[in-house]
Amino acid sequence: TNDLAVELGEKSYPITFPADATVAIRERLAATVAGGRSSVLLTDDGVARAQSKFLADAFGATPRLILSAGERTKSLESLGKVLDFLAANRVNRQGVLWVVGGGVMGDLGGFSAASYLRGIQYVQIPTTLLAMVDSSVGGKTGINLTAGKNLVGAFHHPGAVFIGREFLQTLPPREFAAGMAEIIKYGLLGDQELFGQLEARPVDVRSAELPAVIRRCCQLKAEIVKADEFERAAEGGRALLNLGHTFGHAIEQVTGYTTYLHGEGVAIGLVAAARLSHKLGLLAPADIERVERTVAAHNLPIRLRGPLPLAELQNATTRDKKNRAGGVRFVVMNSLGQAATRSGVAPSTVEAVWREVG
Ligand code: NAD
Ligand code: ZN
Repeated sequence: TNDLAVELGEKSYPITFPADATVAIRERLAATVAGGRSSVLLTDDGVARAQSKFLADAFGATPRLILSAGERTKSLESLGKVLDFLAANRVNRQGVLWVVGGGVMGDLGGFSAASYLRGIQYVQIPTTLLAMVDSSVGGKTGINLTAGKNLVGAFHHPGAVFIGREFLQTLPPREFAAGMAEIIKYGLLGDQELFGQLEARPVDVRSAELPAVIRRCCQLKAEIVKADEFERAAEGGRALLNLGHTFGHAIEQVTGYTTYLHGEGVAIGLVAAARLSHKLGLLAPADIERVERTVAAHNLPIRLRGPLPLAELQNATTRDKKNRAGGVRFVVMNSLGQAATRSGVAPSTVEAVWREVG
C-alpha cells in the first residue's frame, strides 16, 4: 500500500506501509547510522517477547531499553528511565529514538524525545492496531500523573511511522478488537463508505482489506490533525476524534481502568453517542441498530458488562477533561459517517442514555 504524508505547516513526515517492515526499518536504521546519528530503541517486555525475532533482525545490537508492559509504565518514573538511558548512550541532538510498541510506548517515547535536549527525533513503529490507527498519528505525546491520565505532555511529531500488519499476528484478540473500536469510530465520524464496509463484512486480523482500512484511518486522522493541529477549533476539528470518548472515558474512570480496555469503553461509547444523537433528533432508531450490530460483529461490547453507579457515570461524563468552560461538549452524529460537536445537552438526556446502555 502507498505511503501517506502527514502535512503540518511547512513540515511533513511519512507514514509508510512496507511489504516487509523488518527490511524497511533495517534500511532506514542503516542510513541513520551511516549519517553518523546514534540510534537507540525503546520497547516493552510484552513486545520484546512476542516480536523478539523482528527486534533482533531489524535492530541487531542497537542499545535497547525494555520497560514493563502496561498503562502504569506511562509514568514520571519511566520518563526518568528513558531520559537516563538516552544520556547514558550519549545520544546527541542528531540522535534518533526508535519506539516499538503500542500507545503506551508511543506516548512515553514520544514525550521523552520531545523533552530530551529540548527535542530529538523519534520513529514510531506501532505494534497494536490502536497505535497504528490512532496514537502514532497526530503528534500527541505524554504520560500520566497520579492525579489522572495524560496530564503531562507535548506535541511532538515523529520523523517517520512504519506500519507493519505482520506485527498484528501476535497481538491478543482482545487488543485487536479494541483497536477495531477506533476504526469503527473513524467510519462513523467521517467516512460513510468505511462504515458501510465494516457493517457489510467485519474486518479481522486475516482480512485482505485490513492494510487499506488502517491506511484510510491514518489518512482521516492526518486530515483532521492538519486542519486543527492544536485542537483549537471552536467547533468540529480535532474534537471529532473524541466520538464515543466522553462516554468511554467515563466508563474507564468509574471502573478504575481495570475492567475495560480503552477500545471497549469507546465501543459502548459509540453506541451511547448514537443513542444520544437519536434523542437529539439526528439519527433514526434503525441507525442505532446498525451501529450496535457493527460494533458487536467486531467482538466488542454494546452494553456495560455489569451495573455501574449512575451518579458516578453522570459525574464522570460531565467532568471530561476535553470539556470547555460552559459545559459538556459531546460529539454527535448527524448521520452515520458525519459527526459534529454539540454543547448544551441537558443532563437528563445524558442520564437517559446511560440507562439505555446500562
Ligand atoms: P499498550 O501500549 O499498553 O499495548 C497493549 C498490550 O499489548 C501491551 O501489553 C503490549 O506489551 C502488548 N503488545 C503490543 N504489541 C504487541 C504485539 N504486536 N504482539 C503482542 N503483544 C503486543 O496499549 P495500546 O492500546 O496500544 O495504547 C494505549 C495507550 O495509547 C493509552 O495510554 C492511551 O492514552 C494512548 N493513546 C494515545 C493517543 C495519542 O494520540 N497519543 C491516542 C490514543 C491512545
Ligand atoms: Zn481512543
